[in-house]
Amino acid sequence: MRAPSPMMRQYELVDRVKAYNPNCDEALLDKAYIYAMKAHGTQKRASGAPYFSHPLEVAAILTDLRLDDATIVAAVLHDTVEDTDSTVADIERLFGAEIAALVDGLTKIKKLDFVSKKATQGENFRKLLLAVAEDVRVLLVKLADRLHNMRTLHFVPPAKRVRIAEETLDIYAPLAGRMGMQDMREELEDLAFQHIKPDAYQTIGERLDRLTAASTGLITEIESVLQARLVERGISAMVKGRRKQPYSIWKKMERKSVSFEQLSDVFGFRVIVDDVDDCYRALGVVHTAWPMVPGRYKDYISTPKQNDYRSIHTTVIGPGHQRAELQIRTRAMDRVAEFGIAAHALYKDGVDPERRPLDDTAAYRWLRHTVDLLAENENPDEFLEHTKLELFHDQVFCFTPKGLLIALPRGATPIDFAYAVHTKVGNTAVGCKVNGRIAPLLSELQNGDEVEIIRSEGQTPPSAWEALVVTGKARAAIRRATRAAVRRQYAGLGRQIVERAFERAGRAFSEDALKAALPRLARTSVEDVLAATGRGEMFSGDVVRAVYPDHLDEKKPAPIQAPAGKGWFGLKKGSHMKFRLPDSERPEAIPIRGLNGDLPVTLAPDGGAVPGDRIVGILNPGEGITIYPIQSSALAAFENEPDRWLDVRWDMEEVGQQRFPARIQLKSINEPGTLAQITHVIAEHSGNIDNISMVRRTPDFTDMTIDLAVWDLKHLNAIIAQLRGKSVVSRIERVIG
Ligand code: MN
Repeated sequence: MRAPSPMMRQYELVDRVKAYNPNCDEALLDKAYIYAMKAHGTQKRASGAPYFSHPLEVAAILTDLRLDDATIVAAVLHDTVEDTDSTVADIERLFGAEIAALVDGLTKIKKLDFVSKKATQGENFRKLLLAVAEDVRVLLVKLADRLHNMRTLHFVPPAKRVRIAEETLDIYAPLAGRMGMQDMREELEDLAFQHIKPDAYQTIGERLDRLTAASTGLITEIESVLQARLVERGISAMVKGRRKQPYSIWKKMERKSVSFEQLSDVFGFRVIVDDVDDCYRALGVVHTAWPMVPGRYKDYISTPKQNDYRSIHTTVIGPGHQRAELQIRTRAMDRVAEFGIAAHALYKDGVDPERRPLDDTAAYRWLRHTVDLLAENENPDEFLEHTKLELFHDQVFCFTPKGLLIALPRGATPIDFAYAVHTKVGNTAVGCKVNGRIAPLLSELQNGDEVEIIRSEGQTPPSAWEALVVTGKARAAIRRATRAAVRRQYAGLGRQIVERAFERAGRAFSEDALKAALPRLARTSVEDVLAATGRGEMFSGDVVRAVYPDHLDEKKPAPIQAPAGKGWFGLKKGSHMKFRLPDSERPEAIPIRGLNGDLPVTLAPDGGAVPGDRIVGILNPGEGITIYPIQSSALAAFENEPDRWLDVRWDMEEVGQQRFPARIQLKSINEPGTLAQITHVIAEHSGNIDNISMVRRTPDFTDMTIDLAVWDLKHLNAIIAQLRGKSVVSRIERVIG
């Protein structure tokens, strides 16, 4: 792909295009050549060469990719708007709207100073992708532009070099790979590597040279033996050996932490045949002639890579015990492997009927998909991280039950799969079947897996998933869904609290009245007020007073006096009568539907409440409600904060859906089998034991503390009664923290 030097003449450019496109617009190419030459005038490159040589070299690279007239002309003009007096309007007047749009896209990208601060890198990458998504030919010119700048990077001041090289390795080389342009990717990587790790590059390069010199005979031997065997079997094939690039060898050394001496497969061979059938026949010939290296066989013909790459890969131990990596493919596959998306770009001119429309390529679909992701990500740097990861990851290919192909990065889980199908599918996923069998949602998917997602409506994804998925799309969607769910929970709790506060005040609650009072509360929406109240950041009394300013007379928002005293009943006799009333007489109490309901509820630690207990809720700012049994001595700690006390009651639709922790303490007689008897009684009554701790105070007795999980108070009392009836139990009581 080396472009000619010195500066290409006008007729040379036309000849290069004519060689693959006899119907090209010569006059247009000539006009672009002269226009750009005049526009750049006496400008010079860092190398001292006339600036105009640069756009010509970029155009030359693109003629190697056999691109259409518009792309070649855009390449010749690509720096005129940014670096000379030309305007997009000039270009449009002289060259038409299509070429003007391409040059405009390239000008926009050029304005992004990629190598500046890291803080803006994500945003720039986003703009780059948006600019190229309009027309993928913009990306092709940009990549050729970068390739020529990398080829001449040694003229740039050293301080700038490494940053440009790193950006090339981080973004442009993977992008070229993603567009299927393998040769371009390799050259970009190698040029970047040369400047980022000059010592490593030189060492590997020298050894490669020596090894190549020593094994020249070997490469030709393998080539000719292979060729002969294939011909024997009636397969016409072209065999071409090549050595790998320093960067790909260095990457392998890093990844596998092996030294260059141990790295045996530095030579690769391409076997190009006529059709798919011959690919598999050639593979048979190869595997019959030499032993294959296990685990290295990959069939990208039956399952192409996401960038449309198709080929069979295998590694054999060839003559001289030298490992040789083989790629077997057809001519058409070879062209896609080399040119990638550019192999299809000429379709527009109708030059090559074999080429597919660009939009029909997987590489283009990936680009569109990535741009769609942009819309969902608020933070551009996060986006850059995700996209970078996805650029580098290998892919796994999975299928929906209907046979739709879903490509995911390696390491992806069924949750990633669900989100790749649709955000709604991900948000409602509760289980999955992989290849027809129930599998954990967090297993790692393999190539060819058929995945069926089991869904349940009204579900919220657990926030823990966020750290476990690998695709940016799933991560962003989970974060959004959990944020929304938490906010809904707090708003729901806030609504209950606010409605009850209005009831106590003898006032009517309406959203409209609250809306009118928003400025007084310095909030922007009703939901905002309710969520803030639920989170404990705003008190319900203040909300009532905001709506009814004349309500200032009310002394306390809730008729609660400070509880005091400790003991079996945490609340002092006479006070808090309200909380002691039976549930049926407190209709305004907030119903608690267990731990998985729509309120942010937790239970007090160390002997909390179970359904059936009379309960009190304590509002913890930012954490929701903690439920205490009314006897809890821990309640004394909140006696001076009446605003945090919430009137709550159990409202369990069905007992037996959820277990609740309860703690019992007992003194048992020491004799063989005591513990077995006790645990047997608990098991018989279907109580779960979470924890047992024992202290032997005397030779005769042991004190035990048992943490149980029970359905409700009735269940707990039944277990206590049964244990009390045992002769080995001398004393038993429930413990309330
Ligand atoms: Mn340029």
